Amino acid sequence: LRLSIFNLYETINYVINTITLKPECNNVSIKLSSENTKIIIEGDEDQLKQVFINILNNAVESLEISIKKEIDIKIENNFNEIIIEISDTGCGIPAENISKIFTPFFTTKKIGKGTGLGLAISYGIIKMHKGTIKVKSTINIGTTFKIKLPIFQNKH
Ligand code: ADP
Ligand code: MG
Repeated sequence: LRLSIFNLYETINYVINTITLKPECNNVSIKLSSENTKIIIEGDEDQLKQVFINILNNAVESLEISIKKEIDIKIENNFNEIIIEISDTGCGIPAENISKIFTPFFTTKKIGKGTGLGLAISYGIIKMHKGTIKVKSTINIGTTFKIKLPIFQNKH
């Protein structure tokens, strides 16, 4: 990890702004809410950026046939950890796939569309930060990813 201290709110806001430029996002509403616009944490900013790009790309792709196309990102500060929840109103994940989505090369997308690496890489990055990533999903309702990250990376 290449650690630095940075504003996670700005990092996530930056990722949202770049994702919004994609043509698939034309009629997608992406909302960011946070108690504070200053969420200072220690971590590898580039790698965490990659995590949010991966999760938001999946969220956008899940909305393809949805009528309601919304992505909600919530940032909360709870004592010594930051909780980030990313919800979409997309197709959802079938129960039998939930245990597989963090496995490298697991994909349900058409050949050439998905590598099945996005969530496996994201899981590894969050683990290296001593955080957790969990998912809850309901078919045809949507999916929520919940990430918890410690504010400081303790050195040993
Ligand atoms: P890829 O996007 O290349 O398929 P990922 O590792 O990013 O690989 O995701 C693995 C699989 O998890 C996807 O193919 C999809 O089946 C499922 N998935 C991930 N995020 C979502 C989501 N927000 N909504 C529905 N399915 C999802
Ligand atoms: Mg993906």
